[in-house]
Amino acid sequence: MDMEQIVSLCKRRGFVFQSSEIYGGLNGFWDYGPLGVELKRNIKNAWWQDMVLAHDDLNVLPGAPGQYSMTGIDSTIIMHPQIWKCSGHYDLFIDKMVDCKECKGRFREDHIPGTPCPIKPSKMVGQHDKCSLTEPRDFNLMFKTTLGALGTEDDAAFLRPETAQGIFVNFKNVIDSTRYRLPLGIAQVGKSFRNEITPRNFTFRSREFEQMEIEFFCHPNESADWYRYWRDRRMKWYQDYGVGSERLRLREHASDELSHYSIGTADIEYAFPFLSEGEYGELEGIAHRGDFDLRSHMEGKLDEKTRPLQVQLGPDGKPKWRGSGKDLSYRDDLTNEKYVPHVIEPSAGADRATLAIICEAYHEDEAPDEEGKGEKRTVLRFHPRLAPIKAAILPLVKKDGMPEMAKDIYLALKKHFNVFYDEKSSVGRRYRRQDEAGTPYCITIDGQSLQDGTVTIRDRDTLQQERIKAADCMQVVRDKVS
Ligand code: ATP
Repeated sequence: MDMEQIVSLCKRRGFVFQSSEIYGGLNGFWDYGPLGVELKRNIKNAWWQDMVLAHDDLNVLPGAPGQYSMTGIDSTIIMHPQIWKCSGHYDLFIDKMVDCKECKGRFREDHIPGTPCPIKPSKMVGQHDKCSLTEPRDFNLMFKTTLGALGTEDDAAFLRPETAQGIFVNFKNVIDSTRYRLPLGIAQVGKSFRNEITPRNFTFRSREFEQMEIEFFCHPNESADWYRYWRDRRMKWYQDYGVGSERLRLREHASDELSHYSIGTADIEYAFPFLSEGEYGELEGIAHRGDFDLRSHMEGKLDEKTRPLQVQLGPDGKPKWRGSGKDLSYRDDLTNEKYVPHVIEPSAGADRATLAIICEAYHEDEAPDEEGKGEKRTVLRFHPRLAPIKAAILPLVKKDGMPEMAKDIYLALKKHFNVFYDEKSSVGRRYRRQDEAGTPYCITIDGQSLQDGTVTIRDRDTLQQERIKAADCMQVVRDKVS
């Protein structure tokens, strides 16, 4: 599998298109087409269902230090600008940018070693005699916008670069408006924006993307155990959806990579086909964040270099960035203990998960054509729960009452699943098209169907065909895709 094949399949079959393509495209922005929107939505729904809605809060899950609750919110993309000052994004959310005076290229300093120089013959950036790189400069990745009509610097606001802060600033609202006790995870799925210096590698590094984040609030004494639980639980989630190969790995950060306040951070990484041998790209980060975020929003931005953490002071000796002054601590109503919770943050990207799932599903193999001869096919082996189309309904031929029977089945299933009706071209070609879209099941209505009310159901991966009663289609598909 190489990246070009994946990108071309994504375009050809309507998974991903370049944004604004008819105007030449816009670097770092991608649109999801008819199949892509379903795939990505299924991934986000599976995450929400598994993490939040179907979470068992009455029992202790395997590996968990205890019972816990999960709930969700949906906060705005533009928030009070002070939030980004207290979170550290205003001062610290920067990449080092380097320009080449010769080729006019712009590069992220930490990406230079793996970046090809546009000057021919091909070499890496900085390796040509002609290369003339500037000193690295800070570049803040937050997109700036203005609120209201005056447009002064005081009206500046930012598009959120992560969904996490919307959860921190709503922590008290959630606790006060519900009966949840800690430990509690608050989840959010939504768009984030980063003005990446060099967006690249298809959807992997985009300027507009979606995140699926949990902020898990717990007692400080238990936070190390909860960190380990979430790290392993999130790794298992990808494996459960078929990203289980040697391309997936969990990388624990070394202690010199950690923030002072953090007990641990781990990345779940995937060996994307656009990376060199042995390189991995981050799918999700799981970080132990201590009480850094809640305290920063209470007292003012904390100085990450202090231990224990202290509010960062400006030249006048006052907090450099003032917090909200609101009490974001938690009182346990059973023990009456009051504390600022520690936070574990599993932060995943929906677009990177979608891309990894497409890469992992991509296979080329052989399947028999109508005459039984082996024919090369491209197949996306999506987990049935994630597949954009769950079943295709195909009349064998366009006559003898087969389309009528097929349409009845199609309309009955369509109320419950995303199914596809296709009567054009030979059935073999229709199977190939569904294989390429990752449809796990094809239901075919043939001559026998009209006589005894049965249909065949073909499995995309085993190619086995089973005969079932037409009336059972709904239940059979439900059992297979849920
Ligand atoms: P990277 O080092 O690759 O820039 P990061 O460490 O800055 O990523 P986080 O801030 O931890 O990323 O964001 C959490 C998740 O959000 C990432 O694991 C990734 O899945 C997703 N994400 C972050 N930046 C982008 C982006 N530019 N495009 C697509 N997804 C992204």
